[in-house]
Parts: sequence; structure tokens; C-alpha cells
Amino acid sequence: MPDRPWLQEYPAEVPPTCAYPNRNVAHFLTDSALKHPKGIALDFLGKRISYRSLLAAARRFANVLPKLGIRRGDRVAIMLPNCPQAVIAYYGSLMAGAVVVMTNPLYMPRELEHQMKDSGARLIVALDQLLGRVREAMEKSSLEKIIVTSIQDYLPFPKNVLFALKQKKDGKAVRIVYDDKVLSFRKLLKEAPDDPTDMEVDAENDLALIQYTGGTTGLAKGVMLTHRNLIANTVQSRAWCYKTEEAKERYLAALPFFHVFGLTCLLHLGIYTAGTLLLVPRFEVNQVLRTIRRKRATVFPGAPTMYIAIINHPKVGDYDLSSINYCISGAAPLPQHVQTRFEELTGGRLIEGYGLTEASPVTHANNIWGRRKNGTIGIPFPDTDAKIVVPETFEDAAPGEIGELAVKGPQVMRGYWNRPGETERVLRDGWLLTGDLGRMDEEGYFAILDRRKDLILAGGYNVYPREVEEVLFEHPDVEEAAVAGVVDPYRGETVKAYIVLKPGAAAGEAELKAWCKEKLAAYKVPKIYEFREALPKTMAGKVLRRKLIEEDDGRPMSS
Ligand code: AMP
Repeated sequence: MPDRPWLQEYPAEVPPTCAYPNRNVAHFLTDSALKHPKGIALDFLGKRISYRSLLAAARRFANVLPKLGIRRGDRVAIMLPNCPQAVIAYYGSLMAGAVVVMTNPLYMPRELEHQMKDSGARLIVALDQLLGRVREAMEKSSLEKIIVTSIQDYLPFPKNVLFALKQKKDGKAVRIVYDDKVLSFRKLLKEAPDDPTDMEVDAENDLALIQYTGGTTGLAKGVMLTHRNLIANTVQSRAWCYKTEEAKERYLAALPFFHVFGLTCLLHLGIYTAGTLLLVPRFEVNQVLRTIRRKRATVFPGAPTMYIAIINHPKVGDYDLSSINYCISGAAPLPQHVQTRFEELTGGRLIEGYGLTEASPVTHANNIWGRRKNGTIGIPFPDTDAKIVVPETFEDAAPGEIGELAVKGPQVMRGYWNRPGETERVLRDGWLLTGDLGRMDEEGYFAILDRRKDLILAGGYNVYPREVEEVLFEHPDVEEAAVAGVVDPYRGETVKAYIVLKPGAAAGEAELKAWCKEKLAAYKVPKIYEFREALPKTMAGKVLRRKLIEEDDGRPMSS
């Protein structure tokens, strides 16, 4: 087998290696605003913001920070859904040389407190509705100031309508008392100058982001990503999506910016290519369909659960989705029938890629317009090396053998924040051990079987939940399926399926069991079935298998 066989699979338009400018990530915005000042950068439920205005707002924010005592390298947390303020605060913080900590607005006080304490954030930008939670965390962490903003600040409705709407929804309007610790985003921006501020950084060594991950199985760890890591992954993604036209694309921004996938593929790539980000504060399928139809979205990076929700929408046929050019699915395996149906509905391309927070995140993808292999995550990105190793020994696995995926490239993190032991465990000679089990074929396409920690050991057999989920998904009555190992006194673990049926569907346990038996070896067929209204998911659309297992504790087991 040739060294890096995947390079043969590169289309002529994609270079195997790229140049990565040694600059502040914030230059993505500065450059696009200088080239396309009148272009629309953000569209927030109808409110349109040009590149010129966005740059001015980000610069104002950057000018505010030093006055609040924030210096180069200080951590600034952002706890917002996808809205203009998130973009302004993000780029403004980077311009001021701060390190951003993206925080999930759904975090409860305990999770928020851990993230603030661990990162040592001194300032947070948060939504008004979250103020109670943020104040609690402030008492127990190094947070000194809270900048509060309201989602309504950027909605295109008159004030009185907004106020009435808010009262109707919440019963009473939120009244905030501002003081020297709680500050108003709007007021600060109004009073600040919009002088240029882009702080030059040492892109190779200076951190741009501390991104938390792994919180579902224990305390979340902060992944240290430098300016260079983030620029590299954006430039690599740009090279991969070579048909992207500057200042022409409209990106459906439904993936949250506080997850690194949304951050790179939307907040970075969208701005770098001077496109319009169609901001969706929370994934809601009706709103997403309306946005695609009305705003003619052309690019839609997403998680499989998003595409599944679209293809299963009872009225999807009423929507013209033909503006969609291409979509990259990541974060979880993409079932094949979802890919086929989505492409039929839109006429665009939907391809599977792969990544993880520790790699900014994307390391692999299928060719968008060239050859692809279904059921694989594709081939490594430019300048990215990948191999399959024997877990524990780190020796190269034999060709075609299952092992742990290791990756190397300019997008790979510096390490975990304040966790040298954990860093040493996953970074070896520049190689990142991903924790995912997979294999590579002779042409350099990689397939992911599952996470090492999700592997089910049932009666001595290895069961990969993903493979079983794929079979369940294929049943016409099944909308969503998750498979996990639950404790079994005899077999160690046993395979359990959690099923969400399509509306009006009636398949029961016996039918699904028979379906699986036809397609899978007996030891892989789920022994237990639980039917649910919905599956617990992260905001990025990943099904939380661990949560399902935890919820199982103490429940009687049916069979
Ligand atoms: P995160 O750090 O939250 O982005 O999660 C990264 C993890 O998501 C990876 O380690 C994989 O387990 C999983 N993942 C991402 N993309 C895929 C994919 N295409 N197929 C299977 N698992 C994936």
C-alpha cells in the first residue's frame, strides 16, 4: 500500500498542502469587511447587518475590554445562542488579544461554575435570561464582570412590540439592575470608539480559544486551540469546499457557535468567505425549513439529527429546498438513507466528515463533488496525517484491521488546559489519539466503528452500537435509534435499543427484533427495547448515549 494512499483520491482542485497565515483569527472579519463592506454578514430573523457594521461593532467591543481590565491572554467567556452579539463578542475578544471560552447557554450552575473556575475567566457575556445562573457562578469563581445582552436587541421589530411579546412569554419582563459588575452590552458598545484594534499575535503559540469537551462522562476538559489551529482548519475547509464563491454563499447557521463544529464551519468559514450567516438561535425544524426557503440558503453544515428532522418533516414537500448546494455532516455517523433522501429533496450534496474538538475539529471528509465512499468518514484533509494504531501499544495496526484512529496536522490542539497528565495520554509525538475505533481501506478511506468507550462487550463479543443503530434506522417506522450497553448479570453487558417511532408508526419490540435478526448476527441483536418520545441530545445534535445509560440505573429490565 502506498504511503498516504488517500492523496490519489484528491480532486485536482484540492491542494494536498495549504499556506496558513501567521495572524489573528480576527483578520477573517477585518479582511472581509474591507473587501465587501456592504455585503450582508448576518441575517438574524430578518435583521440584516453588513460587514462594515459588524466590523465596527466588533471593534467597539474590542475597545471596551481593556477599559474593563482585560489584557492579552485573559479569558473571556461567551454564553449566548447564535445571535449577532455572539459574533460581535467573539471577534471583538480576539481583536483585543483575549482567549475566548465558548459556553453552552443551557449549562446549569454546577457546569457553568466548573467551566468558569477551570478556565479562570474574568468576564462573561451572557443573555439577560441567564443572569441568575451567571451570578451564582460568579460568587464561586474568578469572574469579575458580566456583560448582559438581550436577544431582542437585534430583532427587527419596534420596541413596544418586543416588550409586549416578552411579557406574554415570560409573564413579566426581566428587569436588570446594572452596577459596576453587571454591565449593559448595548450601552458599552454605544459609548466605545470603533478604532482599529486587531492585536497582532504569535499565531503558533497564542491561544484563541479554550473549548470544553467531554462533559458527559465527567468534568469537562478545556481544549487549548491556538490562532494557528483555528486558521488552519478554516483554510483546510475552504480548500475542501473549492466551489465556495466569495461573497456569494448563504450559510444556514443552525449548528451552535459554542460547539467547535459550528465555530469553524460557520463563524470562521462563513466570515472568511464573506458569506451571509443566516442565524438560527435554536434548531427548530419548521423555522429551519422556512429560512432555507425564504433566504435561499446555499450551504448547511449540520449534524445527522438535523437532516433526519428535515427528511421526516410531514410537509417537507411543500418547501423549495433547491438552493442548497452542499452540506457537510459531522459530529455523529450519517445514516445512508438520510444522505440519499436529503440529496433527493434538495438536489445538493450531503457528505460525511469527521472531527473532534481536539482537532479544531475537522480531520476527514468525503469529497464533496468527486468520488465518495458511503459509510466512511472519507479521507484526511490537506496537511493531515492519519493512521490506525493498536490501542494501548500505539503500534501501527495491520491494513484493514480495527484499531484506534490517530491524527496529526496543524489543526491539532496544544493540549488540555491545566491537565498535563491528560495531554500526555492523548498526544504522542504530535499524534492525537482520538479515542475512536476504526479502520482504513487500501485507498485511504477511513470508517469509524465507534468510540472506544461506547464499545459494548456482550458475553465476550464486541458489539459496535453504530452498526446496530444503522440497521434500526433502516426500518421504515423508526425515526431515531440509539443503542447502548446496559449492565447484565450474566453477559457483563447486554445490547439495548432506545427507539423513537415516526408519528403514527406502530412497530413493536417483536417486529424490530425480527428485523434486526434478519440483518445482524444474533449476539448483536438488541435484547431490550425502550420506546421514547425523544432522545437526549446535545445542542450540536449528538445523541447522549451515556445519559440514556445513566437514566437506566435502577430501572427494572424488561426483555
Ligand atoms: P466533539 O469533540 O464533541 O466534536 O466530539 C467528537 C466525537 O464525535 C468524535 O471523537 C467521534 O466519536 C464523534 N464523531 C464525529 N464525527 C463523526 C462521524 N462522522 N462518525 C462517527 N462519529 C463521529
